[in-house]
Amino acid sequence: MKTHKRSKIMQPFLFLVVVAVLLTAPLIGAVQAPASGSMNSEFLLKCGYIRRNIANTLFHPDFVMYLSGQEEKYTVLDERRIRNAVAIWNTFVADERETIRYQSRHFRKLAGLSGSGDDIVSRDDLVILHAWMPGIDIEVIDGKATEVIHPQEMQRLNADGDKAIHRALEIIRHDPVGKRLIAHSASHGITIGAEPLHDHKGYFEYRSNAIVIDPTVASYIFKINCLVHELVHASNPDKNNSVLEETLSEIIGMAVQDRITGVHISCSPYVVFIDRLLDPLYGEYPLINAIEKHLREAGIVINYSRATQ
Ligand SMILES: [Zn+2]
Repeated sequence: MKTHKRSKIMQPFLFLVVVAVLLTAPLIGAVQAPASGSMNSEFLLKCGYIRRNIANTLFHPDFVMYLSGQEEKYTVLDERRIRNAVAIWNTFVADERETIRYQSRHFRKLAGLSGSGDDIVSRDDLVILHAWMPGIDIEVIDGKATEVIHPQEMQRLNADGDKAIHRALEIIRHDPVGKRLIAHSASHGITIGAEPLHDHKGYFEYRSNAIVIDPTVASYIFKINCLVHELVHASNPDKNNSVLEETLSEIIGMAVQDRITGVHISCSPYVVFIDRLLDPLYGEYPLINAIEKHLREAGIVINYSRATQ
């Protein structure tokens, strides 16, 4: 885990857009034909556990690149043009299994990304997708990394004195990012409790500041990401949620788990973002909220511009 001191931090979303514009500028124009063959964004589809198949949707990264070229040409892309682009794209695909299946619902998601409310895919919509493509770094702010967590605070966090939760927290606090999340929750009156949950693995109840997890989450190392995921939600005191918050919670939870287990099953941030966007529940949330600001207060910085693959 790298640690860098940050003296100046831009507004998170503005930063996202600036990065995306810088990023897309050289790409647009370079991708005019779907069969260019020079693009290889297969790494963006790399994923060890998410089942949704992004590759057959409008959100396939290569297809998004292609659309960016089309947007340059036509300025606005309405539904007819997108359907047409899919048809052209599919004629160039050698393997039937790799064709893109047009879905109106996905078109509306894509067209609505920038919040314009029209049924047109514009550069603003595509820029948001491009912003996720280079990946992200999650870093702990210098000075915060060495802060100690008081034993009383740890006890308050694990309000019921659950042994499995205690063990899980001890494991998570050895990870630099995990430690920041625990320290922040512990000093903000959050509690963690276990109860059998049938349909999901955990949730954060913001009315009572309580994280509730299924007992299996605390005792099975390959589910420890769920507890970290909820700790990210618990860092947001605004009592709201967003596609961005769900995406970052998931990415951070899995990254911490990967480091703990030594088994890399994390998906690319692009896949996680699209998966949340297309999710029937998460996809209904607003695209962004102030989660990045709250994570910074917890000592965690999200950096979009220079991640390694
Ligand atoms: Zn969540």
